[in-house]
Amino acid sequence: MSKDRTYALITYGCQMNLHDAERIGGILRASGWLETSPEEAAAVILLTCCVRESAEERFYGRLFSLRPLKEKGTLIAVGGCLAQKEGLRLLERAPFVDLVFGTRQYPRIAHLLEEAEKGPLCALEMVSLDYTDLPAERRERFRAWVTITHGCDNFCSYCIVPFVRGREASRPISEVVEEVGRLVDDGVKEVNLLGQNVNSYRRREEGKSRFADLLRLLGREYPGIWIRFTTSHPRDFDRDIMSAIADTEAVCEHVHLPLQAGSDRILSAMRRGYRSDEYLSKVADLRRIVKGVVLTTDIMVGFPGETEDDFRRTLEMVQRCRFDAAFTFMYNDRPGTAAARLPGKVPAQVKLERLERLATLTRSLTSASLADRVGRVEKVLVEGLSRKDPGRWRARTRGNQLVHFPKGEEDLTGEFVEVSITSAGSWSLYGQNVGLIGRRGDRDLP
Ligand code: SF4
Repeated sequence: MSKDRTYALITYGCQMNLHDAERIGGILRASGWLETSPEEAAAVILLTCCVRESAEERFYGRLFSLRPLKEKGTLIAVGGCLAQKEGLRLLERAPFVDLVFGTRQYPRIAHLLEEAEKGPLCALEMVSLDYTDLPAERRERFRAWVTITHGCDNFCSYCIVPFVRGREASRPISEVVEEVGRLVDDGVKEVNLLGQNVNSYRRREEGKSRFADLLRLLGREYPGIWIRFTTSHPRDFDRDIMSAIADTEAVCEHVHLPLQAGSDRILSAMRRGYRSDEYLSKVADLRRIVKGVVLTTDIMVGFPGETEDDFRRTLEMVQRCRFDAAFTFMYNDRPGTAAARLPGKVPAQVKLERLERLATLTRSLTSASLADRVGRVEKVLVEGLSRKDPGRWRARTRGNQLVHFPKGEEDLTGEFVEVSITSAGSWSLYGQNVGLIGRRGDRDLP
């Protein structure tokens, strides 16, 4: 490299990308690279997302703003989902980019940066990914993400992920258990298992999901930590997984189960693989088996062909499922997907109006869910200081609900604490610290 081995990493998109960024950081550090600001760096790496149009637009805005750095000799690299999708087209659109690398090229990043010094390079081969022994530069000491599956086989009609992340593959169970063990030894208190569809973990090899076994095994081996997982697919989320959550103390009572739409006609056009009555019956099972579970979801409005009647069915489903929180968004065509070719595009104004109606309903359900917690004592894991009020701690319950409580003298970052919930806002709970759990001299973690 012309300058020292310094890099800056700018990441867009989902938790999977944030975790990939940790891996890239770990690999570069192991190869002698140091992280710095984009202005100081020898190489600026952008890790992209193409699931939503907005992330793509933000990425291009930032990419073109980096051109002056390139003129000063900085190497510009673009990786991730959009890089995989666009490939050489990205180099044509932004000729000042030195390196385009795909979603399965991360282990080679140090070598690719060296090679890109000699001339523009595009590395997109979908090789199989092996994360064994790959280091990660974790952003938080007390919380970590562990990838258990790569890729996706579902091909939902609106989604670009299977095209840019490849077919689904599960990591061996022993490898996952060992990685979690290393994290626990390193002081990690919460492990998040990651995959596009964690519920189908090892389905390909064995014809049925072994995700429930993985949860039970991790819970037995590491009973003192909290285990979360994302994302579940309603088709593969079965009673065995629900029982594993209920029986395993370490597994938190939070399930994110993307509904996407309430109309069977739209679910079928989305190729989601379940009907609304099947989803409802799983929610009823889940609430019966996992007491006090917090249920969150994703919902899309304005899918091609969505009528007012279809949308009303979505509102009805949201009411009946009583989601504790929902991420709502408008459908936008993603070029290359089956849905992009469908007729019956819903006008932007109609999508916006539906989104507002849906958000009004989900906001009221979230407020009701939070209000329901007032008066309880919740175990929480402290994430750090509140972003808005540095006089308070920010923490999460087992159900992943946000809690704020007053800061004392002691640094509680990364500690388990019991908080008495005294009031609820629109998005978070407020309370008082009633005890630290699990440090020497304090009460043992239950
Ligand atoms: S399950 Fe569907 S929405 Fe989720 S990543 Fe796979 S194809 Fe995309």
